[in-house]
Amino acid sequence: MLTIIRPLALIIAMAALLAWIPACRTTPAAVEPLAIPNPAATGAQDQPPAAQQPETVSEPNGPVQREIAKSYKMNKNYDIVPIDPSGNGKVVLLSFDDGPKEKTQIDLLLAALDNHKAKAIFFVNGYRVQKQPELLKLLHEKGQAIGNHSWDHIDLKKEKAEEIDRQIKDVQQIVTATIGEAPKFFRPPFGSSNDYVKRRVKDEGMLFMTWSNGSEDWLSTNQKPEGVIKRVLEQLHPGSNILMHELPWTAEALDELLTKLEEKGYSFVDPDSIDTALSPFPSS
Ligand SMILES: [Zn+2]
Repeated sequence: MLTIIRPLALIIAMAALLAWIPACRTTPAAVEPLAIPNPAATGAQDQPPAAQQPETVSEPNGPVQREIAKSYKMNKNYDIVPIDPSGNGKVVLLSFDDGPKEKTQIDLLLAALDNHKAKAIFFVNGYRVQKQPELLKLLHEKGQAIGNHSWDHIDLKKEKAEEIDRQIKDVQQIVTATIGEAPKFFRPPFGSSNDYVKRRVKDEGMLFMTWSNGSEDWLSTNQKPEGVIKRVLEQLHPGSNILMHELPWTAEALDELLTKLEEKGYSFVDPDSIDTALSPFPSS
């Protein structure tokens, strides 16, 4: 009797073991974290768009997907204008370049923006995102738009095609890997570009822009809150595409600046309402 039971029990045990092994193997994959690629490595730009995994990008703290009508476009002067000419043209677009740098300043900027229910574009550099991805996530979770400002903040006009490609594409990749979506806006460092840069930006599905109201918050003469406010108001016009930076005096000035803009009857364009497909520049 025992001699028959023993082989049977062994077979059952073996079958159970075989069924258990593959189940074990699949478990770790389910909890695999989002990997941030190292875009500095050569060949990174040849990767398939593996970062776009909508089914696995879970954003428990992310903003609720907002469906906002595309009611604005950019014109050749980089002003933001209503697509329907009878729409509200007394608007400004707010933008902050060269981050993400410091949580202190970002918190101040976000508090002022929230206080005025305003959204802005934060044009980021890839090397800074790589250092502090949590700051990029914070901006995204607060519903702010992210723009591409090149990886290294270099003068793209002086670079070869291959380097321009890397500077643009690597930022798209790291931002996508960090927040689950790619930037839809591009601003070249120093406003310096050429036709090749513009074409590559368009290929990546982004709207190319410089600005139409430079706050000049980087100039030594304006490095105080009053200086930033004064320079923005001096250049203020309907559709102003306002360039600011993640700088202490700008962060300090923002709440008062937004109050003054509202007092003058201006409202703030939501970057999501800009139709990025309507570029004023011809594609080639
Ligand atoms: Zn810059």
